[in-house]
Amino acid sequence: MPIYEYACTSCDHDFELLRPMSRMDEPTPCPECSSKAKRQISMFASYSIGAEGTISPVGGGGCCGGSCGGGACSTGF
Ligand SMILES: [Zn+2]
Repeated sequence: MPIYEYACTSCDHDFELLRPMSRMDEPTPCPECSSKAKRQISMFASYSIGAEGTISPVGGGGCCGGSCGGGACSTGF
């Protein structure tokens, strides 16, 4: 399952959560205050970090959009 990043709309706490892709846009309760937290655009999903520390964008729709079936995607598990 991919990791998504969420930010609380009430207390600004941000955290990461393992969720199925089908539910990634659903609000989730904040672990700090139980208010609704919305999904953030995660660096982990949007960028890949190369062996030399270089960061390169991965597509436009995030990771696991169909091009990561070969095992290259580290967030796909
Ligand atoms: Zn909160």
